[in-house]
This record gives sequence, structure tokens and C-alpha cells, in this order.
Amino acid sequence: MLNEKKQPRGMIIVISAPSGAGKTTLVELLRKDFPDIYRSVSCTTRSERKGEAHGKDYIFVSDEKFKKMVENNEFAEWAEVHGNMYGTPKAALEESLAKGKDVLLDIDVQGAEKIRELYPNALFIFIMPPSIETLRKRLLSRQTENKDSLEIRLKQAVNEMRYHSSYNYTIVNEDLKKAELELKSIIKKEKKKSLL
Ligand code: 5GP
Repeated sequence: MLNEKKQPRGMIIVISAPSGAGKTTLVELLRKDFPDIYRSVSCTTRSERKGEAHGKDYIFVSDEKFKKMVENNEFAEWAEVHGNMYGTPKAALEESLAKGKDVLLDIDVQGAEKIRELYPNALFIFIMPPSIETLRKRLLSRQTENKDSLEIRLKQAVNEMRYHSSYNYTIVNEDLKKAELELKSIIKKEKKKSLL
């Protein structure tokens, strides 16, 4: 059984955002200043994108393997996002927390809800794009989506943005530098609070 009270001071930081909101960039910038935060590596059934590395960005698995992992209760949470399966490996998460390490979970709003049930003391941060139009432009310039997948992601984005009020903090990423500073100051403030 998970017991929040017995957990040393490792803090779970959940960051969610619609794709194209700039979350990946912000997470990378955050990790430069906070190299001790462990970024959980999710399992996914989606195919590997150019530039991604197996084991670093994701653990890429087959549908069958993912299903087995769900059956074996290997995920702290899992969800279907944009037609693919994603899950947070439980063992690595719990191992880090037990060592008192802070863990960053870059997961969607469904996964965040499950983590909220399991770890009510986790910190939840939502990154918002300034507008849907900006999001469309960012996704187009990223060129990782085909037209159908772009439309799915935009529709999903509108849906996901409705959840932002259940997060502890919402950062609007209009200006990357400002958003970066805001994110870092939230982490510093919350880390301090958790040590009191
Ligand atoms: P992408 O395919 O663009 O890397 O990620 C798509 C979405 O899946 C993002 O919102 C990302 O946060 C989410 N995601 C990545 N890993 C996980 C996970 O382990 N669990 C859940 N619930 N969502 C995840």
C-alpha cells in the first residue's frame, strides 16, 4: 500500500499541458537548474519520433506488452492519450520517492487525476498556451503531426485546458523566459514548504 506519511521528502511534481504549449522545453529548462529532480520515463505504445531515444524520452513498447504491464499492475497510472497508451512505471517512481528524490511526471490530465488520488500532496502545475491559434502555429511548425493528428491534438487541447483549475498552479506560456522563471520560483517555493 502506498503511504504518503511514510514517504521521505521526495516530492512529486506533475506537469500537464496540451501538446504545443511548450511543456517539453520548460521541463528541460527546469531540469538544468534542478538536476536532482528525477524525470519519470513513461512507457508508451506510440511510435518513436525523430530525435527521441528509447529509455530516455520514453520506453517504447508494443500494445501487447503495455496490456501485460497493466495486468501486472506495473503502472502508478496509465491513460489513453491521442489514441496511444501511456503509463508511469510504478517501481521507478516509488524507488525514487523512497530515496527522498523529487520526481517529475510529465503526464496528461487523466493521469494527473489518478496521481492526485494516490498522492494528494503532490504538486500539480498546468502549462497553458496563450491561445488556441498559438497552439496551432506551434504544432504546425513542429511538423511532427499529420493533418488528422493535428486536429485531434487541437480538439484534445481545448478539452484538457478545462482541467487547469484542479491544478495548484497554471502558467501561461506566452513568453518562454517569464514562464521559465515562474516555473522555477514555484518549485523553489514548494520545495521550501515541503521541508518545513
Ligand atoms: P507526446 O506523445 O506528445 O510525447 O505526449 C502526449 C501526451 O501524453 C502528453 O500530454 C504527455 O504529457 C502525456 N503523457 C506522457 N507520458 C504519460 C504517462 O505516463 N501517463 C499519462 N497519463 N500521460 C502521459
